[in-house]
Amino acid sequence: MSEQGIGTKCVQAGYTPGNGEPRQIPIIQSTTFRYETSEDMGALFDLEASGYFYTRLQNPTNDYVAAKLAALEGGSAAILTSSGQAANFFALFNLCSCGDHIVASSSIYGGTFNLISVTMARMGIEATFVAPDCTAEELNAAFRPNTRAVFGETIANPALTVLDIERFARAAHEHGVPLIVDNTFATPVNCRPFEWGADIVTHSTTKYMDGHGAAVGGAIVDSGHFDWMAHAEKFPGLCTPDESYHGITYAEKFGKEGAFITKCTAQLMRDFGSIQSPQHAFLLNLGLESLHVRVPRHCANGQAMAEFLAAHPKVEAVHYCGLPGDPYHALAEKYLPHGSCGVVSFELKGGREAAGRFMQSLKLCAIETHVADARTCCLSPATTTHRQMTDEQLKAAGVPAGLVRLSCGLEDAADLIADVEQALAVI
Ligand code: PLP
Repeated sequence: MSEQGIGTKCVQAGYTPGNGEPRQIPIIQSTTFRYETSEDMGALFDLEASGYFYTRLQNPTNDYVAAKLAALEGGSAAILTSSGQAANFFALFNLCSCGDHIVASSSIYGGTFNLISVTMARMGIEATFVAPDCTAEELNAAFRPNTRAVFGETIANPALTVLDIERFARAAHEHGVPLIVDNTFATPVNCRPFEWGADIVTHSTTKYMDGHGAAVGGAIVDSGHFDWMAHAEKFPGLCTPDESYHGITYAEKFGKEGAFITKCTAQLMRDFGSIQSPQHAFLLNLGLESLHVRVPRHCANGQAMAEFLAAHPKVEAVHYCGLPGDPYHALAEKYLPHGSCGVVSFELKGGREAAGRFMQSLKLCAIETHVADARTCCLSPATTTHRQMTDEQLKAAGVPAGLVRLSCGLEDAADLIADVEQALAVI
């Protein structure tokens, strides 16, 4: 059979019930699993047999949903994590340890920027940040002999820049390291980074994948393409024996397709325990079943909103790669031909005060620290997350005082625009 379309995979991939088995993915609400003999269980502990022994490492519900995500991204294996933050941390920490270095796009989610620049720096892992549209020379100069990974976001939150995945992948590979792409905003419905050379994809499944503001979660998907053994000196964690599993070498035993996710499961989840709960995995799967239907509607609403805002006299600027004048429009046409996302950022002419009054005046769109939900929500950094900063400090951080991030949900575009229009009339 030819490869199934993304919609069929959203609905059916990952779980095929046998005769008389539940049609819906069962929630295996069990921390542990029973075995007849200690030898049976011992084989699991030695990674000699596959199976389940403790949900901190693996659970069948999670594995069904992870298999669906691997199919959606076109990868070889996947793991669900407790949050998007956990996904990005473990994707990086599976490759780096104290004394290593990361190259990252500077245009990424603030939480990930903090994770890399502060928390991982405290672990002795340094990073060099580059602008997503830096020159080839600047990108090349960011690498060091101890660089272990390159990181970026397909569509960055909140700047909405578009990563030139092919260019970043080429640079990463020239330096013998993988490219990790956070594909949260685009989702595999709009972009599959592996098709452009990325090696590992991460997600905050809290966003479009769940899509209903119900379950915090994350995921890591491996393409199975990166040849760890060809760069064994850079990746001792994958390419030398792990004494905690009787000297198994992940890249030898599980190959390119399985090494990364097996190590992440067997070693990192064992020690850090940031697995997604089976309940959340079940909720995530409900979201995934309609992802291909919802994402185009989010994009259509985002596009309609961006066009309305761009023509409004009280709006200074609109950031949305679906607009022909946007600096990232050409990259969007290449990587996101079917649409980008429902999130639109725009600057109001009246700065912080105008942003505050605008937000207060909205009736349908809610003020929330969230994006990518069925219900439209918005946030003004200067009056909420960045409220302690002066206008000058905001400017230096690249966050204009009048910036509003509006995440268009699944409502009727005409109602959303009417709400924004009446709020703009007040300021
Ligand atoms: N990556 C991106 C692009 C995000 O927007 C977010 C959260 O907003 C995260 C990662 C972190 O995900 P979570 O909130 O699920 O930990």
